[in-house]
Amino acid sequence: MKYLLVGAGLYNAVIYQRLVHEFNVYPLDITIIENRSHVGGNCYTENVDGITVHKYGAHIFHTSDEEVWKFANRFGSFNNFVNSPIAVYFNEKTGQSETYNLPFNMNTFVRLFERELAVKRVTPNIVKEAIQCEIAAYKLSHPFDTPRNLEEQAISLVGTTLYEKLIKHYTEKQWGRPCTELDPSIIKRLPLRFTYDNNYFNDVHQGIPEEGYTKWIENMFEGHDIHFDENFLSDMYRHEVHGMDKFDQVFYSGDVSKLLNAVMNYDKLVAGMVHEDGLDDFWLDWRSLQFVEKEYPTENWQGNAVVNYTSGEVGYTRSIEHKFFNREKMDDGKTIVTFEYPVKYRLGDEQYYPLASEKEKYWKILGYLPKKIVPTGRLGLYEYMDMDDVIAAALSDTRIQVEQVESGSGNFCVKFTDYSDNFQQRIINNVTDKNAAVMKLLEDIRGQVKDIVGVDKIDKKVD
Ligand SMILES: Cc1cc2nc3c(=O)[nH]c(=O)nc-3n(C[C@H](O)[C@H](O)[C@H](O)COP(=O)(O)OP(=O)(O)OC[C@H]3O[C@@H](n4cnc5c(N)ncnc54)[C@H](O)[C@@H]3O)c2cc1C
Repeated sequence: MKYLLVGAGLYNAVIYQRLVHEFNVYPLDITIIENRSHVGGNCYTENVDGITVHKYGAHIFHTSDEEVWKFANRFGSFNNFVNSPIAVYFNEKTGQSETYNLPFNMNTFVRLFERELAVKRVTPNIVKEAIQCEIAAYKLSHPFDTPRNLEEQAISLVGTTLYEKLIKHYTEKQWGRPCTELDPSIIKRLPLRFTYDNNYFNDVHQGIPEEGYTKWIENMFEGHDIHFDENFLSDMYRHEVHGMDKFDQVFYSGDVSKLLNAVMNYDKLVAGMVHEDGLDDFWLDWRSLQFVEKEYPTENWQGNAVVNYTSGEVGYTRSIEHKFFNREKMDDGKTIVTFEYPVKYRLGDEQYYPLASEKEKYWKILGYLPKKIVPTGRLGLYEYMDMDDVIAAALSDTRIQVEQVESGSGNFCVKFTDYSDNFQQRIINNVTDKNAAVMKLLEDIRGQVKDIVGVDKIDKKVD
C-alpha cells in the first residue's frame, strides 16, 4: 500500500513512526508533502543567532501520560523548563501597571487583595472568603440560574476582582468580542490554587526539547525526503508526486473545508456538475494570530519567558522572550521578543483556533470527503489540541489501513484496521467537550460516511 502524508507537523510525524515501526511499511511507500518550507507545523522553532525562536508562539511540552512522555523522549531530551507566566494589568484608575503571578495562586491573591482586606496576614481561608463574598454580591445584583454568557460564568467561579483584572480584557482580545457575548462554555473551569505555586501546569512532566522542536520532529521523520512548498490542494488529482490516485491512504493534516471546496471545484470542472446543496458555504471559520518579532539590544527585556497582558490598552495578549525557554545567550547583550496579536481569520490567513460554533459544520463536511482521506491533526480534526494530546491521539489512531505479508509463507495477508468510527468516538470522548448534540450528529452521519467511496459518488446531502 502507498501512503501520502499531507503536512509534516507533529501528528503526521507520529503517524510516520507508526507506519514504519509498528506496521512495517517500507519508507519508500510513504510520500510526505508540506505546504510550508519547513518541518514541524506550528511547533517549528528556528535558531536565530543562538536563540531558539518559537516561530508560531510559545510551545511548552507538558504531559502526565507516561506513554506520551516516553514517546517524546525517544526523539530528543527535554530540559527542565517550568512555565510560570506573569500577568501585566494596566490600571486606568491609578495610571500604573500591576504585575501578578499566574496561574491564580496565593502569590496572585496576596497582591490582589492585601490592600483591600487590610488584614495582618492574608491567609488561604481569608482569600476564599473574600472570593465567595464577591460571588455572592454579584449574584445578588445579577440573579441567574445558569450563567448565560462568559462574564457570568467567570464571575460565578472566581469573583469580580480576578475577573476584572486578569480575565475580562484578555479573553475579549483573544476572541474579539465582549465577554457578555461569548458562550459560557469557553471557560469551564478556572482553577484557583491556594498555595504559593507558580507552576502553570499540573502535569507530572514538563519541558522544552533541548535542541528545539524542529530537530525533535525532524528526528521523528528519520531523514525521510519531504517535498516542501507543495500544497496538496493545488493539483490533488493529477499531480505526479502527490496526486491522490497514486495512494491508498492520505493522512491529511490540513483544513477539511479547503479540501472539500477543492474537491467540489474539481468535480464541477471535470464533470460539469452543479451542486445545489449549498456546499459552497462550507468554509470553516477560525480565530487567527499575528506574531510580531522584535530584537532588543539588551540581555533581558522582560525577565520571564511568557508575559500575559490582561488589560485592553495594548492589542497583544502575550509577549514571549525566547532565550528563557532554553536559557540561551543570557549575557549576550541582545534578546528576541515576540508579541502575539489575536486577529479575525480571513481566507488565506494561518488558522489557529477552531470555533465551537462551527463544529456541526465540520461533522457535515467529513461526510463528503473521499474515503481514502484520513483527516489528522488540529486542522483536520478541527480541534484545539496540545502537543501531548496530538501524540496520544496519533498513537491510538485506529484508521491506519495496512497490508501485511506473512513472513516466510509468501502469501499476502490483507489486514485492515478498524476505519474511523472508534477513533472519532475516542476523540470526542477525550479531547472535545462531550457535547450531546455533536454526538447525535456524528451518529447521524456515521452511516453516510461509510457509503461514500469516491469523489465521483459525492451526491448526497448530509442533513
Ligand atoms: C499560539 C499557540 C501556542 C501553543 N502552545 C502550546 C504549548 O505551549 N503546549 C502544547 O502542548 N501545545 C501548544 N500549542 C498546540 C500545538 O501547536 C499543536 O498541538 C501542534 O502544532 C499540532 O500539530 P499538528 O500536526 O496537528 O498540526 P500543525 O502543527 O498545524 O501541522 C500541520 C501541517 O500541515 C501542513 N499543511 C496543511 N495543509 C496542507 C496542504 N494542503 N498541503 C500541504 N501541507 C499542508 C501545514 O503547513 C502544517 O505544517 C500551541 C498552539 C498555538 C497556536
